[in-house]
Amino acid sequence: MSVNQQAHTGPPYGQPQPGYQGYQQPAYGAQSLPGVPQSQYGAYNGPMPGYQQPVPPQGYFPSLGFPSKGSPVSLNSDTSSLAPNFIGSLRALPTSGAPPPASGASHPSGHLAYSQFEHGDVQNGIPASAAPMQRPPASQPFLPGSAPTPVSQISTFQQYGPPPASVQQLRNHMAGMTIGSTAASAPPPAGLGYVSGSFSATGSGLHTPYSASQGPPPATVSEGLPLAQPPFPGHTVSTQRLPAQVPGFTPPPPSTGVGPSSYPPTTGAPRPPAMPGPPLPGQTVAGPPSSQPNHVSSPPPPPPSAMAGLHPGPPMSGLHGPPPPTHPPQPGYQMQQNGSFGQMRGPQPNYGGAYPGAPNYGSPPGPPPPPKRLDPDSIPSPQLNELPPQQKPRHRIDPDAIPSPIQVIEDDRNNRGSEPFVTGVRGQVPPLVTTNFLVKDQGNASPRYIRCTSYNIPCTSDMAKQSQVPLAAVIKPLATLPPEETLPYLVDHGESGPVRCNRCKAYMCPFMQFIEGGRRFQCCFCSCVTEVPPHYFQHLDHTGKRVDFYDRPELSLGSYEFLATVDYCKNNKFPSPPAFIFMIDVSYNAVKSGLVRLICEELKSLLDYLPREGNMEESAIRVGFVTYNKVLHFYNVKSSLAQPQMMVVSDVADMFVPLLDGFLVNVNESRTVIASLLDQIPEMFADTRETETVFAPVIQAGLEALKAAECAGKLFIFHTSLPIAEAPGKLKNRDDRKLINTDKEKTLFQPQTSFYNNLAKDCVAQGCCVDLFLFPNQYLDVATLGVVPYQTGGSIYKYAYFQLETDQYRFLNDLRRDVQKEVGFDAVMRVRTSTGIRATDFFGAFYMSNTTDVEMAGLDCDKTITVEFKHDDKLSEDSGALLQCALLYTSCAGQRRLRIHNLSLNCCTQLADLYRNCETDTLINYLAKYAYRGVLSSPVKTVRDSLINQCAQILACYRKNCASPSSAGQLILPECMKLLPVYLNCVLKSDVLQPGPEVTTDDRAYIRQLVTSMDVAETNVFFYPRLLPLTKADVDSDSLPAAIRNSEERLSKGDIYLLENGLNVFVWVGVSVQQGLIQNLFGVSSFSQISNALSTLPVLENPFSKKVRSIVDMLQGQRSRYMKLIIVKQEDKLEMLFKHFLVEDKSLSGGASYVDFLCHMHKEIRQLLS
Ligand SMILES: [Zn+2]
Repeated sequence: MSVNQQAHTGPPYGQPQPGYQGYQQPAYGAQSLPGVPQSQYGAYNGPMPGYQQPVPPQGYFPSLGFPSKGSPVSLNSDTSSLAPNFIGSLRALPTSGAPPPASGASHPSGHLAYSQFEHGDVQNGIPASAAPMQRPPASQPFLPGSAPTPVSQISTFQQYGPPPASVQQLRNHMAGMTIGSTAASAPPPAGLGYVSGSFSATGSGLHTPYSASQGPPPATVSEGLPLAQPPFPGHTVSTQRLPAQVPGFTPPPPSTGVGPSSYPPTTGAPRPPAMPGPPLPGQTVAGPPSSQPNHVSSPPPPPPSAMAGLHPGPPMSGLHGPPPPTHPPQPGYQMQQNGSFGQMRGPQPNYGGAYPGAPNYGSPPGPPPPPKRLDPDSIPSPQLNELPPQQKPRHRIDPDAIPSPIQVIEDDRNNRGSEPFVTGVRGQVPPLVTTNFLVKDQGNASPRYIRCTSYNIPCTSDMAKQSQVPLAAVIKPLATLPPEETLPYLVDHGESGPVRCNRCKAYMCPFMQFIEGGRRFQCCFCSCVTEVPPHYFQHLDHTGKRVDFYDRPELSLGSYEFLATVDYCKNNKFPSPPAFIFMIDVSYNAVKSGLVRLICEELKSLLDYLPREGNMEESAIRVGFVTYNKVLHFYNVKSSLAQPQMMVVSDVADMFVPLLDGFLVNVNESRTVIASLLDQIPEMFADTRETETVFAPVIQAGLEALKAAECAGKLFIFHTSLPIAEAPGKLKNRDDRKLINTDKEKTLFQPQTSFYNNLAKDCVAQGCCVDLFLFPNQYLDVATLGVVPYQTGGSIYKYAYFQLETDQYRFLNDLRRDVQKEVGFDAVMRVRTSTGIRATDFFGAFYMSNTTDVEMAGLDCDKTITVEFKHDDKLSEDSGALLQCALLYTSCAGQRRLRIHNLSLNCCTQLADLYRNCETDTLINYLAKYAYRGVLSSPVKTVRDSLINQCAQILACYRKNCASPSSAGQLILPECMKLLPVYLNCVLKSDVLQPGPEVTTDDRAYIRQLVTSMDVAETNVFFYPRLLPLTKADVDSDSLPAAIRNSEERLSKGDIYLLENGLNVFVWVGVSVQQGLIQNLFGVSSFSQISNALSTLPVLENPFSKKVRSIVDMLQGQRSRYMKLIIVKQEDKLEMLFKHFLVEDKSLSGGASYVDFLCHMHKEIRQLLS
């Protein structure tokens, strides 16, 4: 077959499997699956239709004779370099029967515990006992001959060829933004002046320095210049590319916040005689400059259709006439393509249209403001709401001159949210994680399973090193899919098991090439040629494609599963169904807080909702119970007993399980005994005085129990305190905040003993996964207690100062979801790559005993593994690069399976192609994990500096090699990475890398471990929280209010806002919020009566209350953990905590504001370039 073959569009393999419903079981408190919220952001502030992405006529700029710089040139070069990007989309024809390279003759395999994961040549039969565990019939239609009729090749198939032009147009490439003094060309003192640096254009012969003596610019300029509103008072910079300035031109005042493309010239607007050059199309130039109206009061722009005609339009009249215009309006035009700058937007809160130091457009121009040193902290933020109504601009240019995450997210939603993402095209960059889109698998894994930092890999390692762009994939092998998408099909090849390459053991996939009439296939990863097993033989059609192409998921889809044979099982024995063991701390604190009773009550009902396979009537998972303080209590809950029996093990030094029969039981069979036990536990320990606990022996007990039962499983441990009782793994309090910012800070993240690392290794070997629920009232050393959960693929939940009233709802939601969610046990993951690159580094919650295999005792649907790739040879544009992730695991019913995800990427010889196909959210996910691991071994400051340095190198390389020549004073960012600085700053000022005074050592260790397993959507909202103005919500629609940027200056004291980061939800109430709104939302009559002790919003019967609660519920449903609700009143002391999440502002812990950081990055880049 060839990768160029058409892929089917329908699900030809029958209905989606009814299995995999995971925790989404009805009628139990489970939250809905992460939903697919409907077009949350509506049209708010959206780009005007038909206007957003105009493309200026080719050759327009050169013909004007402008000095080539800035976006015009980069756009052109960009366009021309598109070609090589796609030429290589076809795979090279196989060399039929070509001998494999000798170097590969001996497969450098890491040795697996499961020999056949590596060597699939033994073909034992599946015992009959496995049959009941198989999926329902619908999931097994792939046995040759039994496949359903293939869907005919519908016209919507995708070729593995160049993506459609429209897709490419969406990815616009190099509309770099500039921050710099291009417009102003100000003398150095007027430069940005971050720290001691300057943004002013130095050494640019293209600019005429802006001199105060030149007098004030005509106000008209503001209508015609591609300048965005600089965020700084008195700061003479432009923020968008201004490709050229002609000598003699007097630049506009810094406050000219108007881009010509987004703010059309007012017809009849005066044009200063001092500005020779052709008028803009559609612009009449006449009249004295002083008559130019303030753009606040300018007439609204014409409708989009009219505007569209204004711009690129016919060539300017000055093309062959006088020198180019002194203020070329068009060059900034490309900037508009991405819709991120200078967009026509609705009024934004907090922008009054003018600020101190800026000339008043409405009055005769005065002298330009004296050059000022930039002080970003003094950026004023007039509140829109505080302006008289008549001053509110109806339409104006976005004052935000620096890239806005909100705008980028919104643009992607608008551009890519409506069409399904079809995976048939190699190297296609998926929509952002914040965009809701459907995925159609046509040969590559869905981005829900794999996301890459770049979908175009440099062909050589030199290129990769030069760019410093990390090449990594964030893989979520068991990701939950929305109900509209098809779950991976299960393929059963019977006794022979999956077909694999003889040499590299890659699994059959859409990229394997069948040759010799279908008798052999050539491996797409290592080029080795393998005989097709007789049972798998099929003829090829005239295109070289197997005629059963559409009948076989492994030939036509990016993701699918194989039923594993016994060769893939430990000890060549099919696994038993897994077990869950609940291990409850019954020391004084746990009992006193009501926690023990709460857990026992909850388990009575929760046990009926253990994960089930497909439509099985009951779960195959067995359960067991242990309670503990300084000693452990095991319970016999055998169904034949009238009452449960307790067995105490007080010798915790050498843990053993005192009973085998009756410890792990079927819930239905032992229902009454279990219920009795759960009733009795809280009573038995009600009067306990025991405050000390053990911890390691608890894990050992669970491990021993699973060993004895010869099964994998999960321990749910509910623990309250530092384990100081005499026992293995005993810990001491070693918390020391004085270590922060010292070379010893790293010890706070390291476990205090290696005991737990060894224990984790034993747990992984047994398939014993540990989920830890912590309820600390003081330091309990999360860094050490978390080692086993972390290395076994488990989860940690932390509820500091647990209070039954306020925290039980959150805890119970987490527990329910954790118990019910889909999880694979005894898992091993390997990522294979085509020749030229290989996986070199791994991040996540797992254990590795060799350099290739990621082992997890348990892997649930929320966990990701991030894999970094490095070159070991040259890649070719023709063949691209391939990844195959194979996960061997045991399902919740004990079935051994292989889940396969394939992804094909493009390769490039031009750096521009790399930068054009990057995914910044994934890049940040990788960088955060990289940095968070770095703090284990390096001082935090070193980690921060190296992050900054790497990003500066990434951006400097772009500037040097991809952007068109321009003044050094300009900051030019690649389109796909324009949010890299703002997001990177969020990582740098996060609690792990720059803790505030309120952040505990345990918090930092906890966050560090959490982030390491996060997917891209989770890191995105964690580092740049979502901020929604609730008072702007439309109570009659399902949509969310449009998000706003995370800065205090965006908040109005008359509004109520919601901020979420995946762990917490804040509801911030301004001091001037209308009494009626307060009454409707909180049920109290005044601001002062709002209690910030609320953990949920009161249920009130009015539209506003319903709307806000539905928003909170929807957000809760999207996240893998139940977020804690915190009510924050403006000017209340809790506001400090809230402000910590306003990540564009300077933080209390010293973290830079976005503006400051951007300036700093610019300085770093300039240093690298000079
Ligand atoms: Zn191979």
